Formats: sequence, C-alpha cells, structure tokens
Amino acid sequence: MDALVIGAGAGGLCAAARLAHQGYRTMVVERLDQVGGRASTHDIDGFKVNNGAIVLELGGIMEQTFAEVGAPYDVRMPKPPLMYRIGGKTLDITGGGWGFLLSRLTRHGAKLLSGLGAAREDSGLPEEQLTTAEWVARYTKNENVQAVFRNMCASVFAVGSEELPARVFLTYFTRRSAFKKFGFHPEGTVGAMAALADAVTLHGGEVLLSAEVTELRTADGLVTGATVRRADGSEIEVGCRFAVSGIGPVATAAICPGLGEEYRADVTARSKPCAMITVNFASRRPLLEAPGLTSFGATRRLCYVANFTATCPEMAPPGWHLYAGAGVPKPSVGDFDAEAETELIMADLRDEVPGFEEARILSTAVMRDDWPPQRAVAGFDLPHETPLPNLWHVGDAVKQYGNGGTTACAETAQLVVEAVGQRYPAPARA
Ligand SMILES: Cc1cc2nc3c(=O)[nH]c(=O)nc-3n(C[C@H](O)[C@H](O)[C@H](O)COP(=O)(O)OP(=O)(O)OC[C@H]3O[C@@H](n4cnc5c(N)ncnc54)[C@H](O)[C@@H]3O)c2cc1C
Repeated sequence: MDALVIGAGAGGLCAAARLAHQGYRTMVVERLDQVGGRASTHDIDGFKVNNGAIVLELGGIMEQTFAEVGAPYDVRMPKPPLMYRIGGKTLDITGGGWGFLLSRLTRHGAKLLSGLGAAREDSGLPEEQLTTAEWVARYTKNENVQAVFRNMCASVFAVGSEELPARVFLTYFTRRSAFKKFGFHPEGTVGAMAALADAVTLHGGEVLLSAEVTELRTADGLVTGATVRRADGSEIEVGCRFAVSGIGPVATAAICPGLGEEYRADVTARSKPCAMITVNFASRRPLLEAPGLTSFGATRRLCYVANFTATCPEMAPPGWHLYAGAGVPKPSVGDFDAEAETELIMADLRDEVPGFEEARILSTAVMRDDWPPQRAVAGFDLPHETPLPNLWHVGDAVKQYGNGGTTACAETAQLVVEAVGQRYPAPARA
C-alpha cells in the first residue's frame, strides 16, 4: 500500500477517501464490523439509532469532502434546524440569531451581544484561562441566558460552559460554521460514512472490516507497515509508505513502539476526553414541535433533543417518531456518577417533553473513556504530526482550534492529506 489508514471513523474515512481519490493505493483497517466509528448507527427493532454523531454540517468542509471525492451527501436539513424551548415555549430564532434569542431572554442582551461582536477582532478574544461560563457571567446573571450558553457548549463541544475556554466558544461562533446549517442522514449517520467508504473502494482502495491493527511497525524512524488481526484470529502483514491514524494519539502510541515511551507518556498525560449521555426514544404520536434540534434554557443536564423522523421518516418503522435526548454530565471531564447523571437527564426529559413518560425507551448510552463524544476537549487538542515523519493523526483528538465533531474530523483529514502530498506527491491518476 501507499497509505495505511487505521480506523474507519469520520477522520479516517475522510482521509482515506481523499487519498484514494488522489491515486494513492489506500487500505483502511477497521476493528468493528461496520464503518463510521462514533459516527455510526445500529438497528434496534427497525429504528435507526445513532451511536454517536447525530447531525452533520451542511455547506462546510464535510460536504466539500464528499463533493471532492464524488460521494453522495444525502443530508437533509430540518427547517428550521434549531429551535429553543424556554419557559414552556418553543422559539424559532431563524434569521435573528443570537440577537433575537438574547432579546427574548433578557433586557441586558445588548451587552452580551457587544461582547460577541468584540470577539470578531482577535484583540477582543478573552484570555486563554477564562471559561465560557465565566465570560457569560461578566455580562449577565440571567439563569436562562447562562443555561443557553451552557447547553450550546454541550451541544457543539460536549462539555459544559464551565469546562470550555471562552476563546474556543467565541472562535467557533465568530469565525467558524457556528452551528447554523446541519441535518440528518435518512439511514442514520452511518449512511454518510458508508458513502465515504464506497468512495474509497470506487477509487481503488480497500476497506477491511473486523480487522484490528495490533502493531504499527517502524524501521529507521519511519512507519513501514502493520500487523492486522482478522476476526478469525488470522494475521496479515501490510506494508505501507505512510500511515494515517484515526484512533487518537494515545491508542496509536499503544500499538506503535517506534513512537517511543516519552511520546506515549506525553500524549497520555495530555489526553482529555469528555463524556455525554444519550437517551434514544420513540413514540407513536409526535412529541416535539421543532423538526430538528430543540435546545433548552435552564435544565438539570439535558442540552438538546433531536427529532429525526420529521425530516427522515425512514429512520423509524411506519407510524413511529424517533428522538434522541442528550446531556453532558457534571463534570464532563473525569469521573462522574453515571447512574445519577442519567437520572437527571431522564427527569429533564419528563419535564421538557410532554408525553415522554409514555415513550418507548430504545436505549440509554453513557459515552465516555474510549467512546467519548470528543477525544479532546476543544482547545486541548494534540498535533497531527508525530515524531515519525510518515505517520499522522486525524480525528477529534487533533482538531484545529475552535472546531468540533465530524466537521473538525473532516478538516484534520484535509490538512493531513495536504501534508502527505508535500512529502509523497500524489501518483499520476490512471
Ligand atoms: C453522543 C455523541 C454525540 C455526538 N454528536 C455529534 C454530532 O451531532 N455531530 C458531529 O459532527 N459530531 C458529533 N459527535 C462527535 C463525533 O461523533 C466524533 O467527533 C467523530 O465521530 C470522531 O471520529 P474519529 O474518526 O475521530 O474517531 P472514531 O469515530 O472513534 O473512529 C476511530 C475508529 O477506529 C477504530 N479502531 C480503534 N482502534 C483500532 C485498531 N487498533 N485497529 C483498527 N481500527 C481501530 C474504531 O473502531 C473506530 O471505528 C458526537 C459524539 C458522541 C459520542
């Protein structure tokens, strides 16, 4: 192979599709029996239940990646994509943005808006140590406003506002896509990831499922190949000119002795995964007004509920409505009481979603440790580069500053494939 890509998550697949499209002989090796990693979907009695990412951005680097590699991007945007439920009322802020939302919540919204405006200039960004919660508290004591910011941090970055640097939040909302246009895939998020995997094979690459890279071999300071164990226990050796790892620096260091003990200890010490709890539920009658995401004001933990079937009825058996409610625990980094935190989200769902008591709970998932919502809290990411010049990382442990989720994964893939091209110019395409 030219390229060995470890892991068929969003980062690995975006990189692999780009590499195969550019003519590199590319092999993706994935431990699980399906693609997508934390952007995948399982079938539960005919319901398409996502195991991580639920929304995909429209009009950004992810959609651009699909366009470049010729993969269909069948992501449907609910109209409007995002609404707020505050004080028992559902608010549509489409077109009005932050200004309109804040004006509905507080008479002092103008001050906060001017703070947001100032952050558009680099000189207006606050110091690194200030958290988003502290930044908001400078402007208002209003509980619902503070909660809206907390829930927005939780929805986009999977940490509360007390754990996210204000600089990251403001960078995202003033310079990046700002959670404006997004949608659902009718097959569940795995549908989009499967289209990327198809693009890999269409361009001559291979995607090996149920196959785990157990060792990444090196010689003379370069990756030379890997040992791959198949589900039946058999092993194959894959030789490669370079490797792209989508499993995160800590897991990569564990399978690549050539990275050295110092690197392994450093990335382990700096690793900062967060946590999220999701409740997947269904009902025979519609439970929410908003056709996309509903975000909330003051809740115990709940940050959003997604209404999938208003836009993608294919995601549930006929006559059913499919939803997912999610919240981040306190603390969202480090240890927490999973049972108590789940109960807080259930209590919020009972309060905020009339009819939730009669809904069918399909699954409740506590995602943390090696299945986190973000492998690094935004603002605490590690570099793409490694001490080995032909090994790079992609994915949500190595995001660019102020970015999050699958969008950030697609961005890392674009940057890493550019770096690959500088060291190993793309082969002439047949
Ligand atoms: C609850 C939750 C909600 C989320 N919501 C959103 C959202 O709405 N929108 C959004 O954009 N993002 C969301 N995210 C974040 C998003 O899911 C992740 O940022 C993204 O999917 C991470 O992709 P990745 O490629 O970095 O890693 P992963 O998806 O973890 O991919 C790594 C892959 O490598 C495989 N692997 C591991 N070790 C090996 C090995 N040794 N050999 C072979 N394969 C291996 C794993 O099985 C996995 O498939 C959410 C995440 C969670 C958990």
